[in-house]
Amino acid sequence: MKYKLWIDGKWTDAQNGETMKIENPATGEIIAEAQSASRADVDRAVQAAKAAFYDGRWSRIAPSERSKAIWKLADLLEAHTEKFAKVESENTGKPYKNLSLINDVPFTVDNLRFFATAARDTHGSHAGEFAAGYTSIYRREPVGVIGQITPWNYPLNMAGWKIGPALAAGCTIVLKPAPGTPLTTLMLAELTKEAGIPDGVVNVLSGGNDAGQALAEHPDVRMICVTGSVGTGKKVMKTAADTLKRVHLELGGKAPFIVFDDADPELVAAKASFAATMNTGQDCTAATRVYVEKGKAKIMQEAVVEAMKNVKMGLPFDDDALMGPLISGVQRERVAGFVERAKAAGAKILTGGEIPKDLQQGYYYAPTVIAGVQQNWEIVQSEVFGPVVTVQEFEDEKQALQMGNDVLYGLAASVFTKDVGRAMRLTAELEFGTVWVNDHLPIASETPHGGFKQSGFGKDLSAEAVGDYQITKHVMIAQG
Ligand code: NAD
Repeated sequence: MKYKLWIDGKWTDAQNGETMKIENPATGEIIAEAQSASRADVDRAVQAAKAAFYDGRWSRIAPSERSKAIWKLADLLEAHTEKFAKVESENTGKPYKNLSLINDVPFTVDNLRFFATAARDTHGSHAGEFAAGYTSIYRREPVGVIGQITPWNYPLNMAGWKIGPALAAGCTIVLKPAPGTPLTTLMLAELTKEAGIPDGVVNVLSGGNDAGQALAEHPDVRMICVTGSVGTGKKVMKTAADTLKRVHLELGGKAPFIVFDDADPELVAAKASFAATMNTGQDCTAATRVYVEKGKAKIMQEAVVEAMKNVKMGLPFDDDALMGPLISGVQRERVAGFVERAKAAGAKILTGGEIPKDLQQGYYYAPTVIAGVQQNWEIVQSEVFGPVVTVQEFEDEKQALQMGNDVLYGLAASVFTKDVGRAMRLTAELEFGTVWVNDHLPIASETPHGGFKQSGFGKDLSAEAVGDYQITKHVMIAQG
């Protein structure tokens, strides 16, 4: 299957004729070919989005009309659930039945429906007389042409998180998916036409990092939004400084999973193993640093190891598979490198740390638990982005908090305890954008998702995300 660029409501060839081979990471097979957008293609797409923004075909229609079209897009996606889930699983290797079909596609449908509703509540907050003889009005206006850059871990879902709130606010979009995983985002772009979203409002360019760079540099792009690694976020922010565009960054994470003695070991084991291996641990909110209170550390650790051993790996279309491969050979080398370096420094691998014997094809890596590590080691401090957790002990609440907060990241954290007071204290003091109590991972379309510290800033999901794509204008009218 060959895919083109989606510009101004049409399939278009990349001007330089360059293409990218798209691989299935479960088998290493080439499943499609996508075009690689050049700087000239980025400019064409931005010009289409600019024309669409300034003639008001989307930004100035009634909110009810925008809402109807976004809702229709959700309906169309839902009608094609199986097709999208199949392509997503082929392109990422993730389990079809247990992930793409029950999570990635239906959650994106729900996200779009939420943003369709939010599109009707985007007006300003004030109208009144704040200086004698004047009436002031606060208008909430769309920011303009938005550049959006997404990662490979949840390609369709990340596209929905970007497109949904920008459309709700009345913006127009140029979106560049990650180089290896553009397929479902391109398919979604085509559905925007059938949904009645005018040409030029949503443009999708498959391409490499240089296409992302061109988007971040473009003077007609008013805001650049990235979901990706901390390194990419920093580069994009520096680039954006030259044109002073707004920046919205959803970056990496290194979530602590803090377990007190009063927690139920069965619950802890089930939640830790799920939150560490869902999407093969390639999730920015994945549980990665398990901290257990000293009194029951041994019981908790054994329960987690046992649960990690039982996570069923398999091919994407194996109905029992709960965990698929890593996204690429490069990613597997990266993950294995972290584990090997920890081992060389004296860490103990309690389970995993290897390629599973029965899954040699593709890029599988076994769920891994590592003990005997120090807080300042690389394996505790850096994002691995694979099915790997470390386990460390703590003495008391104060130390748990100190160790939990002691990383550069601040995306998500969890606390397992039956003590409500302790849960309240820790949720207040953990420096993370999401803190769960007695769970780890669940989110909803209504709930804001975003980082503190070097996990970035700006929110995806929720009404706050729509607000991020709006700008306040003060209109002041002299009455005399
Ligand atoms: P990445 O940073 O390598 O790439 C992300 C995107 O940025 C890709 O589309 C890439 O082509 C583009 N890019 C790279 N260099 C660029 C540049 N100089 N200018 C503009 N664009 C550029 O990340 P990845 O490996 O695709 O994804 C994994 C990362 O994403 C992890 O760090 C993960 O934590 C993060 N992530 C964060 C969230 C969140 O919500 N915070 C969600 C999912 C993934």
